[in-house]
Amino acid sequence: MIRLRVRSTEYRVQLKSLIIFPVVCCLLSVICGCQSRSLYKDSRVMMGTFVEVISPDQRAAGIVFAEVKRIENLLSKYSPDSEVSRLNKSGKLITSPETFYIIKKSKEFWQVSDGAFDITVAPLVDLWGFTNKKYLMPEEAEIKNTLNLVGSDKIILHNRDNMIEFTTLGVKIDLGAIAKGYAVDCAVNKLKQAGIKNCLINAGGQIYCLGNKFGQPWKVAIQDPRKEGFVDYLELKDRAIATSGDYEQYFVQDKKRYAHIFNPKTGYPVHSGVVSVTVIAPDGLTADALATAIFVLGKAKGTELAKKFSEVKVKIIEKNNVQNN
Ligand code: FAD
Ligand code: MG
Repeated sequence: MIRLRVRSTEYRVQLKSLIIFPVVCCLLSVICGCQSRSLYKDSRVMMGTFVEVISPDQRAAGIVFAEVKRIENLLSKYSPDSEVSRLNKSGKLITSPETFYIIKKSKEFWQVSDGAFDITVAPLVDLWGFTNKKYLMPEEAEIKNTLNLVGSDKIILHNRDNMIEFTTLGVKIDLGAIAKGYAVDCAVNKLKQAGIKNCLINAGGQIYCLGNKFGQPWKVAIQDPRKEGFVDYLELKDRAIATSGDYEQYFVQDKKRYAHIFNPKTGYPVHSGVVSVTVIAPDGLTADALATAIFVLGKAKGTELAKKFSEVKVKIIEKNNVQNN
C-alpha cells in the first residue's frame, strides 16, 4: 500500500483526499512483465490537481487525459478563453450544450441543498484569496458587499438557445465543486465507447472505479483529515467516490482554520462541525456536488440531503472525532 504524493509542477497542485491501493502492485507487475496481470498507470497535472489513471488497457490513460483536457478547456475559470471565463467576463453567453448542462445541474443542486451548494461563490473565493492562493482575512464590509453578488437565483437559464445570463453585474461562477466529477463521468463514457471495461480514474480526489481489478473490486482509502494515514477503505465497482474536506486548501488565523468551501449565506468559510465528507454515488457529478453540499450543511442536514438521492452513501468525519481540530 502506498500513499500517493503530489509534487508541484507548473502551479501548486493539491494533495488528494482519497488514496488508491494498487499503485505499488501495478508498477511491479508492469516491471516484471507479467503480461496477463499487468496494470498501466499514468498521471498528469490537469485542472490544478493530479489526474491519475490505472487500467489493464494501455489506451485508457490517453483517452481519459484527452477528455479531461476537453472539459477543462470548456469549464476552467483559470483559463481566460474557456466558456466559463468568457461568461464571467461578459455576464451573458450562448454556451455549448455541455456548459449549459453543468450550470443547469449546479442550479438544481443549489435548489435541492437549500442554497448550500452555490457556484456563484466565485467572488468570495477570489476575495479570500483562494483563487490565487494568497489567502487573506477580508474586512466584514467587503464580505457583505461581495455577498450581494452571491446567489444562484442570479443565474438565468435560457433553454431555447443555451444562453446563460447573470442578473447582476459582477456575478461570477466557479465550477470547482462539480466539474471534476463531471469530467470523470465524461472520461468513463469515452472508455466504455472504446470497449475498455476496467479502469480507475482519480482526478484530485474525484474517483471512478470502472469494472474491477482482475476480478476484485478496486480498493480506495479515505485519508485521515488531520494526520498521515487513512481512516477507512472501500471496495468499489462501477461507482464514483468524492471527498470534500478542510485539510488541503486552508489557512489558520488566530488558531482558527479557514478552508476553501464557503457558506454562501454568511460569506465565510464553512464551520459546520465536519472536517471531511465522502460520498459514494453512481456518477461523479453527483458525488462531487453532494460532498461539497453536505460539507456546507453539516452532519444532520447533510444526511437528510443525501437521502434524496438513490444509491448514495455518505461517510462524514466530524471535528469532535479528530485530533488537532
Ligand atoms: P470541492 O469541495 O469539490 O470544491 C470546493 C471548491 O468549490 C472551492 O475551492 C470553490 O472553488 C468552490 N466552492 C466553495 N464553496 C462552494 C459552495 N458552497 N458551493 C459550490 N462551490 C463552492 N486550481 C488551480 O489552482 N489552478 C488551475 O489551473 C485550476 N484549474 C481548474 C480547472 C477546472 C475545470 C476545475 C473544475 C478546477 C480547477 N482548479 C484549478 C481548481 C482546483 O482543482 C479546485 O481546488 C478544486 O476543484 C476543488 O475541489 P475539491 O475536490 O478539493 O473540493
Ligand atoms: Mg465537490
